[in-house]
Amino acid sequence: MELGIEGRWALVCAASKGLGKGCAEALVMEGVNVVINARSSQLLEETAAHLRHLNPNVTVLTVVGDISQETTRQAALAACPQIDILINNAGGPPPGDFRDWSRQDWLDAVDVNMVTPIELIKATVDAMAERGFGRVINITSAAVKAPIDILGLSNGARSGLTGFIAGLARQPQLAGRNVTINNLLPGSFDTDRLKSTHQNVAKSSNQEYESVRETFRKKVPSQRFGTAEEFGAFCAFLCSAQASYMTGQNILLDGGSYAGTY
Ligand code: NAP
Repeated sequence: MELGIEGRWALVCAASKGLGKGCAEALVMEGVNVVINARSSQLLEETAAHLRHLNPNVTVLTVVGDISQETTRQAALAACPQIDILINNAGGPPPGDFRDWSRQDWLDAVDVNMVTPIELIKATVDAMAERGFGRVINITSAAVKAPIDILGLSNGARSGLTGFIAGLARQPQLAGRNVTINNLLPGSFDTDRLKSTHQNVAKSSNQEYESVRETFRKKVPSQRFGTAEEFGAFCAFLCSAQASYMTGQNILLDGGSYAGTY
């Protein structure tokens, strides 16, 4: 299927590896020019070289820095001639027990996983609406629908973003101008983030890493973890011309793990 986004510009945050990289790969394969961001420059440049190799016809630019910092956001916005597609992503907050978290821990989680995407949306959607095309995808988490006890900071901050998006996406001045805003909710995807989660469980429960990984894998109805490539392909479809009638949605990609009927 031709997705109708060739030549457009995307800002893909937190994209040197994992799910963000999967999204950048899929967009580049569709002929989208990208600005990719991450904090560590070496891996980011390696990923940029890989993306240029995937499609030599697109422009791939990099902006190094923590996307939760205003200076990084300004640099990322300035790097794009225009932003047609915005993929909001960043690292998730650490696990733990809420009894141990300080006020600052909460503010940090809300800053990275709620306020940062909102700031980027604020800086981009009105211009998208003027041009009559815009796609915003927020990478959140399956934990928004099925909270995970030890990920309280993530459950809370991402749910705040989800509530805000539910209202914003339905503004006629956005939805009526072909600007869609949707959230993608990953379940278990085989990235470094998942590996470190399983390593933490192995350490705290005195088990072997491989045995923890197997236990979690068997809990997924699909009997496997997702791949960044399939996550990226779905993201690219949500950014397509064809996906223009879908906005304000929370879409689970979790191999069937969420057991609710609706
Ligand atoms: P990952 O493999 O660890 O990759 C994270 C990427 O984000 C890296 O490129 C990292 O590069 C960059 N990054 C992290 N914090 C950043 C920041 N503040 N500013 C700029 N770049 C930043 O993680 P992932 O699995 O792709 O996860 C992506 C998001 O999805 C996370 O929020 C995670 O919590 C969420 N999620 C993942 C899963 C899963 O199964 N993988 C499930 C649910 C939710 P640098 O370190 O160099 O900055």
